[in-house]
Amino acid sequence: MTCVCLLISGCQTTDSPWEQGAKNKSLVEQPVTQHAASVDEVLLPDDSDTPSGIVLTVSETTGNSPLDKDRAFRFLQDICDLGPRVTGSEAMQRQQEILTNHFRNLGGKVRLQKFSFPHPQHGTRQEAANLIVEWHPEKRDRILICVHYDTRPQGDNSRVPKNQRGDLFLGANDGASGVALLMELAYLMRELESPYGVDFLLVDAEEFVFSDFPPQRYFWGSEYFARDYQKNSPPYQYKKGVVLDMIGDRHLQIYQDRNSVWWKDTRPITKEIWGTAERLGVKEFIGRTHPKMRTPIRDDHLMLRNVGKIPTCEIIDFDYPRFPVNRYWHTDEDTPARCSGDSLAKVGWVILEWVQLP
Ligand SMILES: [Zn+2]
Repeated sequence: MTCVCLLISGCQTTDSPWEQGAKNKSLVEQPVTQHAASVDEVLLPDDSDTPSGIVLTVSETTGNSPLDKDRAFRFLQDICDLGPRVTGSEAMQRQQEILTNHFRNLGGKVRLQKFSFPHPQHGTRQEAANLIVEWHPEKRDRILICVHYDTRPQGDNSRVPKNQRGDLFLGANDGASGVALLMELAYLMRELESPYGVDFLLVDAEEFVFSDFPPQRYFWGSEYFARDYQKNSPPYQYKKGVVLDMIGDRHLQIYQDRNSVWWKDTRPITKEIWGTAERLGVKEFIGRTHPKMRTPIRDDHLMLRNVGKIPTCEIIDFDYPRFPVNRYWHTDEDTPARCSGDSLAKVGWVILEWVQLP
């Protein structure tokens, strides 16, 4: 099917910040989405009381997680120390080297999946590469765990206009959190006993978009992966998939994505994952859709599911922070200080338990 992912930059919308945000993750199956020029609507100061309709939940179960939360957080910090990891940048190349060594040392089979696409600003070919790590590659039935490892070329939503420069957007939550989680999870993968083999997919060019160059496409890496998987019919099959994005917020709360609940093939996966969280007592997984976000999240799961035919569910905490609503998202304030190893260890634990289910 033809998927068109376009962005019109600078359009104003009167939707709530949640709705703006959901649209700004871009889309499949619709030609155009709006770009939220700002998400700085202030509801309440940080750490203030909860507005009605929003539930604050914190579980005290991190101590039981087999993931090392301190090490996970150090990985997040290390990745951010590279600076912005924009597609094609030296920092991205350095990140690829670090991750290749890291996953190989822990027993993963690593490969780079290179691809190119037209640069949105001048149309020349832009090189990019997904990084794929296979665990137990002999298994035919597999699970795909996807994160993006590129960062947006600029922090468009930074409150001070001069801070919207690309060199100030670190993507600690929107980029490094998923990478750090996989780096930590990797310590447990070789010994994993599961009916499934597991592949980590770190996609490039999830959001290689420029604020002053409409229209543009998102999700180049996941689209390439999905098309390649469909075209080459490998001897294995992905039975389930999950996308992890923005899961490092130190005030973690993960509502269910509307599409992931709505689609017949992803609904059981969503149920499994949130059921696993409930069993473990990880209360930050909230078993319903966000009360104020009426639009489905548009992220790499759309490509993996709609193009790759891999039933893939989305896991995202799209309140970053909870109050003021999403103020750090796509800003110079998306830094390690706003993230926590607790959040990484909790989400990683749920995923680790989930991949062992039959
Ligand atoms: Zn983003």
